[in-house]
Amino acid sequence: MNNIQKTLSIIKPDAVERNLTEEIKSIFKKNGFEIIGEKKIKISKEEAEKFYIVHQSKPFYEDLCNYLSSGPIFVMILSKENAVLANRKLMGATNPEDAKEGTIRKKYGLSIDKNSVHGSDSEENAKKEIDFFFSS
Ligand code: UDP
Ligand code: MG
Repeated sequence: MNNIQKTLSIIKPDAVERNLTEEIKSIFKKNGFEIIGEKKIKISKEEAEKFYIVHQSKPFYEDLCNYLSSGPIFVMILSKENAVLANRKLMGATNPEDAKEGTIRKKYGLSIDKNSVHGSDSEENAKKEIDFFFSS
């Protein structure tokens, strides 16, 4: 069954800063993702707070929002068969220490907070997150 989906991917400040953007984009392409939208931006603390609102009650929320707004990020709309799950698999576990060999977080992640990439966790959230960054 054909189930082409879109999902939102963010290359986080730690990876943009280390000039890993092109390398990570090429991993997505090699794995069959089409990049149908992309831009390098810097967001404010307030925007980061909105984006991560689901984590509002978590102890790491404040640090997370400071971090995501600390430097340039690279946001992409990825498209592929079952893109949401496929991207989550390719990213690996939230904590790079737990991420499997061959995943982006295993390869580039520095720590649980500086874990190099974000990916939407459901099709519904993918739509919201794509709208957040790409509806002008
Ligand atoms: N995070 C953190 N400390 C934690 C859990 C999460 O700093 O104990 C950060 C981490 O950067 C993660 C983000 O918060 O990517 C969002 O957390 P989530 O559980 O949604 O993980 P993800 O969906 O990114 O794998
Ligand atoms: Mg998440």
